[in-house]
Amino acid sequence: MTGWVRARLVSESKRPGPAGRERKRLKDGPARIALKALARALFFADLRGTRAIRRLRGEKPYRLGGACGLCAACCESPMIQTGVWTYRLRTLRFLFLAWHRIVNGFHLVGEHPRLNAFSFRCTHFDPATRRCDSYSSRPGMCRDYPRALLWEGEPPFLAGCGYRAISPNAERVRRLLEDEGLPPEKLDEIEERLHLRE
Ligand code: SF4
Repeated sequence: MTGWVRARLVSESKRPGPAGRERKRLKDGPARIALKALARALFFADLRGTRAIRRLRGEKPYRLGGACGLCAACCESPMIQTGVWTYRLRTLRFLFLAWHRIVNGFHLVGEHPRLNAFSFRCTHFDPATRRCDSYSSRPGMCRDYPRALLWEGEPPFLAGCGYRAISPNAERVRRLLEDEGLPPEKLDEIEERLHLRE
């Protein structure tokens, strides 16, 4: 998570969809596409800076392995974690939610005070086709997903996600384990638990 407009997109695995609720579509027009492009440029500039600082401080994220299987589980109910001030201060909270509603088409459906997070229904996501109606202009956090998770101790990938986390020291640890002569099933278990698989 990176500051007040610098929200982190995570996802909740099995939040029930808003069955029966009217789903108003909001396909992006030229003005919204331009505004989102600007927001995206700022988002990624900020993200690159923040992650560079974290690396300089000695933090080592996992590497991203695997590939997107297009299951769209991460689009079903996006959850955005904010800074504490954005979550608590009425004006910042109002601006934050208004931005996501008007520009990104995210409608608030839940609050998570312990995490300073909001969960949304995305009006661009079509549950019938499981596709985004404005994919080319999707926000930066949708494009970045699931990379933000790689900075967590135990990355909470959604069940069935085609991506996986690989330890930054995977190769070295694998070599050390090979020298131990462990039985294959034990080796498998350790590789899984320590995110050693490429
Ligand atoms: S495979 Fe992972 S990143 Fe791709 S759509 Fe599914 S949950 Fe999202």
